[in-house]
Amino acid sequence: MNEVPVSSHVKMVARGVDVFYGTKQALFGVDLDIRDNSVTSLIGPSGCGKSTFLRCLNRMNDVIDGCRVEGKIELGGQNIYAPNVDPVLLRARVGMVFQKPNPFPKSIYENVAYGPRIHGLATARNDLDQIVETSLRKAAIWDEVKDRLHEPGTGLSGGQQQRLCIARAIAVSPEVILMDEPCSALDPIATARVEELIDELREGYTIVIVTHSMQQAARVSQRTAFFHLGNLVEEGETDHIFTNPKEKRTQDYITGRFG
Ligand code: ADP
Ligand code: MG
Repeated sequence: MNEVPVSSHVKMVARGVDVFYGTKQALFGVDLDIRDNSVTSLIGPSGCGKSTFLRCLNRMNDVIDGCRVEGKIELGGQNIYAPNVDPVLLRARVGMVFQKPNPFPKSIYENVAYGPRIHGLATARNDLDQIVETSLRKAAIWDEVKDRLHEPGTGLSGGQQQRLCIARAIAVSPEVILMDEPCSALDPIATARVEELIDELREGYTIVIVTHSMQQAARVSQRTAFFHLGNLVEEGETDHIFTNPKEKRTQDYITGRFG
């Protein structure tokens, strides 16, 4: 076998995950291992449950009325739905970047400094400055904003705003970063920059990205999971899923027969 070795360390584990919105079931017994230091793409037709599953991973479904999650989800061996888990602290460990860039209506600096400050990661101004700079550098936006840190984040271009939101997620040192169609509001050039960034971040983080673009999944991810009608149909190495899937439903989707 001539396979590229993939880190086999598992960061998050989902077992038998069912999700309901009221009486309507949106996910059916999802089992998935999410590996460390790699990018996992969630693909599938609109409404198949990609965002629902992503939100299970940092308990963002908790804030949706009538949403109920059953089954097991672990982060580093710990059940994230256990009663002693504080969802706010969990979301610092498992950060999220949304479809539409959503900087706070505050300065670029404050967008990044807010999280570390409320989580008590830095109190001295120097330490905070350092976290802000490092996070903006890791998000590949430092050079573009270093001379206007005190201007509003909302004044940046869409692509810059999305990288600012990635910097904001990074600032609290998460272990996992969830991204829900992070490029869907961006032009092709901004998309390419964010995709490059995702590839660089893989070294230090575990990344899970929802995308409706199979091309994007192929470009940025090492693992791909295909969802259909609330079921996880198939998961594996990205190359494998796109060239030689096991399931007919995956084959039909990647060849454009539906979705
Ligand atoms: P995807 O991200 O793959 O497009 P979603 O996870 O958003 O899919 O949706 C999966 C299913 O759950 C869909 O049938 C959708 O209508 C339903 N759903 C999603 N969010 C809600 C919600 N807040 N309330 C009720 N139903 C929802
Ligand atoms: Mg979605």
